Amino acid sequence: MANRNKHLNPNQVYEPKRCWVGDTNKIIYNTLEEAELAAKVAAYDHHLDAPLKAYKCPYADHYHLASDG
Ligand SMILES: [Zn+2]
Repeated sequence: MANRNKHLNPNQVYEPKRCWVGDTNKIIYNTLEEAELAAKVAAYDHHLDAPLKAYKCPYADHYHLASDG
């Protein structure tokens, strides 16, 4: 993974929004479909046996993956 600058710069390429869930800063997906698609891509990229689990955020109206770093 590339090292990302924490400082927000509007000229940088789009980065997904993130949300703190417990100790984890997780990527936000607006829909369950979007999360599940990302899970499939991640499974392919990381050669996982099964996609990560997508679930609704307990704190807000969006979705996360069970493990997305
Ligand atoms: Zn969230």
